[in-house]
Amino acid sequence: MSIPYLPLERWQRLWIVENGLLRCRQCGALLREWQARKPFIHYPGCAARGADTQYPLRDLMNLRQAINELGLPSE
Ligand SMILES: [Zn+2]
Repeated sequence: MSIPYLPLERWQRLWIVENGLLRCRQCGALLREWQARKPFIHYPGCAARGADTQYPLRDLMNLRQAINELGLPSE
């Protein structure tokens, strides 16, 4: 049984990572992992637009680092 890490759960409600691509669950816009330094661009009218970070990959890296520091299981 893994301990839920709430900031990560929140992140995972907004974003999904597959095959090196980050995708917005709301509008399906994509960002490649090597573009982590660029702001994420949603499609017009996306419900998640403006509601959350423009740098989701950077946030994910911060979350992973926090998880490591806390010693929580990452999955
Ligand atoms: Zn979106």
